[in-house]
Amino acid sequence: MIRVRFAPSPTGLLHIGGARTALFNYLFAKRYNGKYILRIEDTDIERSTKESVDNLIRSLKWLGLSWDEGPEIGGNFGPYYQTHRFDLYKKYLDKLIDTGDAYPCFCSPEELKKERDEQLKSGAPVKYSGKCRNLTPEKLKENIEKEKQFSIRFKVPEHKKIVFKDLIHGDMEFDSEILGDFVIMRSNGYPTYNYSVVIDDALMKITHIIRGDDHLSNTPKQVMLYESLGFPLPIFAHVSMILGVDGTRLSKRHGATSVEEFKKQGFLPEAIDNFLALLGWSAPEKDGKQEEILSLEEMSKLFSLEHVSKTPAMMNIDKLHWINGIYLRKRDPEEILSLTPNILDHEFFNKNREKALRYIKALKDHFFTLNDVESHITDFTEWKLEKELVGPLNENYIALLKKMLIFIKKSGSLDLSNVGKAFKFLSKEFGIKGKELYIPMRKILSGKEEGAQLQYFFILLSKEELIRRFEAAIKEFE
Ligand code: GLU
Repeated sequence: MIRVRFAPSPTGLLHIGGARTALFNYLFAKRYNGKYILRIEDTDIERSTKESVDNLIRSLKWLGLSWDEGPEIGGNFGPYYQTHRFDLYKKYLDKLIDTGDAYPCFCSPEELKKERDEQLKSGAPVKYSGKCRNLTPEKLKENIEKEKQFSIRFKVPEHKKIVFKDLIHGDMEFDSEILGDFVIMRSNGYPTYNYSVVIDDALMKITHIIRGDDHLSNTPKQVMLYESLGFPLPIFAHVSMILGVDGTRLSKRHGATSVEEFKKQGFLPEAIDNFLALLGWSAPEKDGKQEEILSLEEMSKLFSLEHVSKTPAMMNIDKLHWINGIYLRKRDPEEILSLTPNILDHEFFNKNREKALRYIKALKDHFFTLNDVESHITDFTEWKLEKELVGPLNENYIALLKKMLIFIKKSGSLDLSNVGKAFKFLSKEFGIKGKELYIPMRKILSGKEEGAQLQYFFILLSKEELIRRFEAAIKEFE
């Protein structure tokens, strides 16, 4: 049974890169009927916060990436918070010490810094010298009696080839010489990432580790720990980083980076999922065509790591807008209104739901994000007669405008049906057809080059406002 996990450190908002890692794990599990686990890696006491955990959980749920085991729901391999698993870390630490694969290190931070500085200066590789590797039993006893602080280091075997399988990068091979003995337990009793991650992944029976390739350099250390503890090695898949359009690693400078920020900017969860999946993955071609608009469910049937590229993915915000627009158009106006309830407070709607729904219907094709729903209200409320834009109008057209004005004044409430009839009637009477009729009138009523179709101005603007705009135009062009 395939078991994968997303293992975020709760030190901030869920980053878009983290969300993509979660998504790939989720899709992989679904594709192969496996289990997708959420584990909170909260051992960095200084930086981990409860707010961050809440944000991670909220954002993942919002994206529809709910887990099969993890916080809130539990599972057979818990606990799912690392800070609740200290007894397990201790148990395997004792084992490593017993077998001689780990040892206490009494070097002070100052000593270690000095060692590092000297290595840097002489151009030697920077790694722990192994000073405490072979302390005599007497020295060890003395240090402990003096209550000297110590960490626990893993004893890196000499000249060992470290190999592992990576489904994205291919077979990987490292020489243990590049690594110094590394700390697995800090002097404050907290495990380091490279140690706790191995204990947890092994005990949680994780079969595939899908994560960002910023962890590729940690993997040899983890592989050695697996081997030393006799745990079976999982298969790795290191996914490339997400870059901003300028080719540098995605950061605040590029704008929004967290799921929450994208939500605030009016993006829909299904659009973000779709967009994120395409950052590195592409659906297999079908009948010579590559589908780009795919729901979570569709992607769950198609996803495979073989189709994930190892070249870094570029975060193209225009594409996200495009995808979001497509999903927004799939939602019905009621749903869009329920996601943008504040527009009802706008004086243009004055709490009139029907009018707001008419407005959404009218402009749906012009929305790319939910925030556009509010910002397009000005298409109707901000108006100025743009004489140049409308262009010259002949007498016949002005006569038609006058007749239209009478129709507005005389009719009761306007709707698409009676407005449509009026157009038909006037078109016949004045012999002005199609675009010739609609375009100048739309420009008169909107004051803009583009926007909603003409008939919507009739059903969204008040009669007084329509009369005002028509009268202004007639006066101007007559
Ligand atoms: N807590 C680690 C991180 O957020 C997890 C890395 C991993 O998946 O092994 O980067």
